[in-house]
Parts: sequence; C-alpha cells; structure tokens
Amino acid sequence: MRNLEVMNLTPLLTLEGDSLTETGWHSPPRYYTWTIGCQMNKADTERLESALSQLGFVAARGPADADVIVLNSCVVRQSAEDKVVGAITSFKPLKTRQPQRVIALMGCMVGPRTQQLEKQFPFVDAFMRPQQYGPLLNLVGERLGIDWEGCLGPLAPLHPQVTAYVPIIHGCDEMCSFCIIPYRRGREVSRPILELTREVELLVHRGVQEVTLLGQTVDAYGNDLSDKPDLADLLYAIHDIEGLQRIRFLTSHPRYMSERIVRAVADLPKVCEHINLPFQAGDDDVLQRMRRTYTRDDYRRLISTIRTIIPGVSLSTDVIVGFCGETEEQFQRSVDLLEEVHFDKVHIAAYSPRPGTIASHAMPDDVPHEEKERRKRRLEEVQERIATAINLGCVGQEVEVLVDGREKGRWKGRTRTDKLVFFDSEKDIVGRLVEIKVEKSSPWALQGSII
Ligand code: SF4
Repeated sequence: MRNLEVMNLTPLLTLEGDSLTETGWHSPPRYYTWTIGCQMNKADTERLESALSQLGFVAARGPADADVIVLNSCVVRQSAEDKVVGAITSFKPLKTRQPQRVIALMGCMVGPRTQQLEKQFPFVDAFMRPQQYGPLLNLVGERLGIDWEGCLGPLAPLHPQVTAYVPIIHGCDEMCSFCIIPYRRGREVSRPILELTREVELLVHRGVQEVTLLGQTVDAYGNDLSDKPDLADLLYAIHDIEGLQRIRFLTSHPRYMSERIVRAVADLPKVCEHINLPFQAGDDDVLQRMRRTYTRDDYRRLISTIRTIIPGVSLSTDVIVGFCGETEEQFQRSVDLLEEVHFDKVHIAAYSPRPGTIASHAMPDDVPHEEKERRKRRLEEVQERIATAINLGCVGQEVEVLVDGREKGRWKGRTRTDKLVFFDSEKDIVGRLVEIKVEKSSPWALQGSII
C-alpha cells in the first residue's frame, strides 16, 4: 500500500464562545480526524468515525471546534512520520487551551509499547494501534457515562461516498526486510466471508456503487481462516449483491496471486480489470535482500499469465529505488522491467530505513541520498513516457466511467481500468455510470465528453 496523502487537514480554526456542557464538551460532542497514509488508514479512520457517530458525535468544523481530535498516523516513510509529528505538535496549544479536549494518536506510529510516545507527547490522552479503537472509546464512554460496547453496530461508514474501502484482511505475515507494517499491524487476520458480504450489502444500501477490498496482502485473504476460502471465493460471494456495480481489490503480493484469482477477475463482470502488483525491485539479489520471496522471472511469468487470462487488463506496481547495496546495474534492471512490462501506473519510492526493520539494523543504507533521488527521477521519466503512450492509445475510445465527484469545476470518475477521467455535464450525475468518448490524454488522466 502507498499513496501518502493528507486528508481532512484544514487550517486550525478558532471558534471560541460555543457553550460546553458539564462534561467539558459540546452538545452533541464533536470529533475531528486527521489521516495520513495508505487506503487502509483511510478505511480505519472511516470506521472510527462511524463508531463515534453511533455514540452521538458529530463532525467538527475544524480541530479547534472539536472535543475529540484523532490523528491516524503512518510511519512507512520518514516524510510521513515527520508530517505526523508536525501535526501532533500543532494540536498541543488546543489541548492547553481546553484541557477537557481529548487528543488520540492511532495507526502505525503506535507500537506495542507506548512509553516513548507518552514521554514525547504527554498531552496525548490515548494511543491506539491500528484498528484498536478501545482506548479512545473507553475514554469517551467514561466521559459520556455510557457502555460503548453495547451501543455499537457494524462500523461501516454511515454516510459513504459512491466508492468505499472494505478491509478484508488485517496485518501482514510477509516480513519484507524494509517494511515496518507487520510490526505495527500484526499477523494476518481475515474477516469471514459472511461478515464481509453483509457489510457490502449494507454499504450498497447506503448508496455505495463500487467497493475496493483492502489488505496489505489482499490476495492472501483466507489463509488464516479454518475453511481456507481465497480471494476468488470472496469475489464470487460479493459479486451477486444487487445494486453493486464494481469491485476492486488491493494491494496484491506476487506470491499469492493465483491463477484461480486471476480467472475470477476475468469471469466476473463486476470485478474491474485492474491489478496492482508491486515488484519493488527488478534484480534478484535485491529482491532476496528485501525478502520478497519471488524472482524477477517469477514476476514476469505472472504478468504474462495475467495478460493472457484478462485481455485489456491494466497493471500498476510499486518500486523502491536505492535499497541497501543496490548498484547502478541492479537499479537498471528495475528500469528494464518497467520498459518491458509497460505498467499503466507506477508508485516510486526512494528507500528510507525504518527503525525496527530487519534492513535498518542488518544492512547499511549505503546509497547516497542524491543518488536515490536521481534514480527516482530516472524511473519517473521512464514511466511518464510509457504512461503518455498508453493513455494516448485511449484517445478515440469509448470508456465506462463511474462518476465519483467534481474537481476544478468538472465531473470526474474512473474507468474500469482505474484511469481518471474528466468531463463536463450540466446535470448532477454523481454515482452514475456514463459512457465517455476520450478526446485528450496526459500521463495522469484522460478528458472527454459524455456520449
Ligand atoms: S508484503 Fe511486505 S511491503 Fe507489503 S505490508 Fe507486508 S511486509 Fe510490508
């Protein structure tokens, strides 16, 4: 998973003068959330917001207006961690001004031991590991005098958008040497198929048209369950839900992407023909040091199988440059793999050691910062050229787009192959499936007109 992005980060608002109840909070109490990181973090925040709403909270206009502030953190890269520290620090004056306000830190920054964080941020009231909402809900329950466990129904978002994330497997068993996630999110735990179909039915009832099934290794779904269902079984189970238009899933691991899953994508009309399959490095020695459990040739064979079984599939990937000991020659193999596969989208990261990972204590971070940045730019240039050519090939085609909102005065949505499309319409068409004739393209998006 990737896509660092800050959501719901509005400027600190000063909204003094609203009256507070004897709890020291507004009536009804107000929450504010700040989230950074991958889609799984966004889904976790939505579920916590659903819990708070069920306990009577409403969304605050900004942090200064909130009785409970929650920061959902990411530490997968140093830059994300720095943003989290900056955000927590910026909320400290709000706590000083109104000590009854509760500040909670959740997500991957919170490990099994919190003493260090408690020392660093003494004004934070609750620390929660990913999906462990108990510490905050206990505090809230005590303050409101309610038994929160007795009050909560399913945590699916109460007012979802047209598209929704559905976590289907938590944690990761892979232990890639550069990655902190298994230490923070724990071992893989899959949710039962029945629970997931009920959740998707509920989401569809609330207006959702497209679900994205989420996991750090989404294609390992079911390995830990007693009857060993796999992702294909889940896709078949969800596919027949009436009113649901599209199904996506991410992030896949090459080790678990079975032919059975690939055939399910090809067979089921609602499952979109797009697969995100991180390769991380194009060289076998680097892959071995990363503990990625496949070779470059395994990966190439898998891509060939996917393309044979799902004609027109779009592919995206993740790659890390400048991993410990990566030579220029080894880096060039990542460039070559990009040139050979022609991915639709590539997420490129420069390696930064994460304390607590195998790589951080056993392998020297010996590629200089400037060199990592140069390699990153080089891959970006290669990918920009490839994506330009692929998207140019879409011009003149008619594509199905699920309209999910507006941006800069235009409607926007995604194709089945996960391409962003902009177009105009006088009508409110959010949530509609429309046919678009593509007229223009860039490496990042398409533009067109409704047919
Ligand atoms: S598969 Fe590897 S990179 Fe992905 S979450 Fe698990 S350990 Fe991290």
